Amino acid sequence: MAKITLDNLAHSYLARPSSEDDYALKELNHDWIDGEAYALLGASGCGKSTLLNIISGLLHPSQGRILFDDVDVTHAPTAERNIAQVFQFPVVYDTMTVRDNLAFPLRNRGADTAYIAERVQQIAQMIGMEDVLNRKARGLTADAKQKISLGRGMVREDVNALLFDEPLTVIDPHMKWELRTQLKSLHDQFGHTMIYVTHDQTEALTFADKVVVMHDGRVVQIGTPQELFERPAHTFVGYFIGSPGMNLFDAQINGDTATIAGTQVALGAGYAALGGKVQVGVRPEFIKLSRGDDGVPARVTRVEDVGRHKIIRLDVAGHTVSAIAGEGARIPEDAERIIFDPAGINVYADDWRVSPQGEVP
Ligand code: ADP
Ligand code: MG
Repeated sequence: MAKITLDNLAHSYLARPSSEDDYALKELNHDWIDGEAYALLGASGCGKSTLLNIISGLLHPSQGRILFDDVDVTHAPTAERNIAQVFQFPVVYDTMTVRDNLAFPLRNRGADTAYIAERVQQIAQMIGMEDVLNRKARGLTADAKQKISLGRGMVREDVNALLFDEPLTVIDPHMKWELRTQLKSLHDQFGHTMIYVTHDQTEALTFADKVVVMHDGRVVQIGTPQELFERPAHTFVGYFIGSPGMNLFDAQINGDTATIAGTQVALGAGYAALGGKVQVGVRPEFIKLSRGDDGVPARVTRVEDVGRHKIIRLDVAGHTVSAIAGEGARIPEDAERIIFDPAGINVYADDWRVSPQGEVP
């Protein structure tokens, strides 16, 4: 297991990148703490696989260095990095049995026979394949083959890190939950450094201690699920995480007051003068409907009952805004205003969160 350091790392697939847009991975500095479980979350095409393949050595970065426990491995081949990587689609040896597929990484490293037998049995149990250990991989379903790939990824206990690149894509929904739970318990048991790539926020938030959110080739925030919920560092995080995502209101800010749709709103904290595109972000959980005289003018357009709670869609100055109310809550559909809980207000300038004065970072 190892701490992994990314030092001034960036990557372009072009031979002569000329602008920032040419980089699939924009400059990045980060330490992946030894033994932590990370999720790498972002929409398709944002650079997740590029970053993962640079860490494993499948791809050489066009700029910067990678260090494992402070040793520079930027130019070291994959094999020397001692990493297990599982891909989106199965990589198995068709002519080998399931048992031999699972044993392969251990045999390769010269582990002793008794240990291999025991460990393969353990892993087969984790992936639910004890009954088919003697079957050839050929002829198994894609689903079963992917479980073998996962098992092969998990079989070695002495790896520096485990990297998973959307490994549950071809797994049926039922088994997905089961396998994710297994991966999590594997982490609790062995404490490997794990990086789990996904575009699914639920997967990310349930798997990881820390979630690394990527957008357009850039890491926009690294934080606990709670931090991503309470203080999204970028409007993308606010929008991408949460269901529905954070509402954004164009605003002018003056000290501790915002003007939104012609109405003054208390921010609960003071801000220095801001330039650029200024917005106030409020998650649906922090918006309440009001029949009183205070608040931003709004009109209820629709109420959706989604079981655990209700989602209220509103029109605010021609924009759609969402609010969430508890399951049993009565919705005043004739409400004419919305009010914000100051604890749930964040301010953005050109999409990046601005810290209020006096905030403890
Ligand atoms: P993700 O895994 O988040 O879906 P990728 O890392 O695969 O994203 O891709 C990031 C960007 O780099 C995308 O715009 C993609 O088209 C581009 N890209 C990925 N692989 C290559 C490649 N081998 N050659 C050129 N461009 C690539
Ligand atoms: Mg990918």
